[in-house]
Amino acid sequence: MSEFLAELSEDLNSIRQQGLYRELRALESPQAPRIRIAGREYLSFSSNDYLGLANHSRLKQTAIDAIEHFGAGAGSSRLVAGTLAPHQDLEQALAQFKGTEAALCFCSGYAAAVGVIGALLGRSDVIVIDKRAHACIIDAARMSGAKLRAFAHNDLDGLEHILQWANGNSVRGSGGRSTRVLVVTESVFSMDGDCGRLAEIVELKNRYGAWLMVDEAHATGLYGEHRRGLAEAYGIGDQIEIQMGTLSKAVGSSGGYIVGARILIEFLVNRARSFIYSTAPPPAAVAAARAGIEIIQSDEGARRCRAVWDRVAELMDGLSRLKRPTNSAASDGSKSAIIPLLIGDEGEAVTIASALRERGVFVPAIRYPTVARGAARLRLSVTADHTSADIQQLLTALAQADEASRQDALPN
Ligand SMILES: *Cc1c(COP(=O)(O)O)cnc(C)c1O
Repeated sequence: MSEFLAELSEDLNSIRQQGLYRELRALESPQAPRIRIAGREYLSFSSNDYLGLANHSRLKQTAIDAIEHFGAGAGSSRLVAGTLAPHQDLEQALAQFKGTEAALCFCSGYAAAVGVIGALLGRSDVIVIDKRAHACIIDAARMSGAKLRAFAHNDLDGLEHILQWANGNSVRGSGGRSTRVLVVTESVFSMDGDCGRLAEIVELKNRYGAWLMVDEAHATGLYGEHRRGLAEAYGIGDQIEIQMGTLSKAVGSSGGYIVGARILIEFLVNRARSFIYSTAPPPAAVAAARAGIEIIQSDEGARRCRAVWDRVAELMDGLSRLKRPTNSAASDGSKSAIIPLLIGDEGEAVTIASALRERGVFVPAIRYPTVARGAARLRLSVTADHTSADIQQLLTALAQADEASRQDALPN
């Protein structure tokens, strides 16, 4: 073996020893409550396809039509010749849906975060994030070169301390402008399923003259009267400078977006490197995303959204009967379609996940580095297409897996 491969395989061994090894499993079916892997069917609680749109007939047909009209690939970056009619249609639909002046789509949510943060901040600036913010926000912060400060999850005192420090350290940057301070948080946290304290964060960032960016990846389509997200539910959409999200979760397609003021979007078209130096998203994806947004706003969207919350209530109810500790979200009254079962030990989480698979239920074990070490969990995500019977099947499998692990723990 070459030195190169020997070194990598040593790293892989260490990953295995820590119970952190991961591998890919290919689905032989579309994303749905019932998935097929290696010839076997599983009841799945592992997708972010909250509204069941990823395999929806209208999204599929819209994507097919877009391919017929505009081809398989966009063929160019947006600013060169890759802006096709479906891109503009999607951006108009997004702005209208979110109630903002303008919108810009990216190839992924990850690319949106990297693009916007890199465009706004440089070395003389400060970025302040919740410790549990998504990896794309952390990576974007690092790439921007801004000073990165993190506050403990949802700790407003911690945030205020940092904002005080940032104001005390504000200097004239190289371009003559003063230090920018950007606070970034998620609205619904992807691995904890609890909600950011957005109203209080808005109040703080206003008091200290900072800007706010909110990642609505897990809230778009699920919260607020028009299902715009948590910013709408809290009535603070117009106080957030930058709203971001993804088209790959509840919207059912692929891609990321930023919505906000027209000037912000114009600025990003000129400055966001992940937007400028990347081929435009394919016509099928943007057309399907637009169809997803239209469904979210329709009666069907309202019905699908209600189904999610009905199933979440059934699952929470069943888990409390199983005396299963879940996240803190339930205790503060907020809710989400993400319900983590905290396990702690990485190996144990993997064992329970495989016990569930033996019982025909597919649930991912989430481990470091996605969450902190010793904070491994089973992450259940509920979708509109799950039935009450599916929830009961999951609860039964969980009870059996618990029972089996108790038996294993008994001394012989
Ligand atoms: C999934 C996710 C993203 C990235 O979105 P993609 O479109 O999948 O790249 C960003 N932020 C959060 C909180 C996410 O969960």
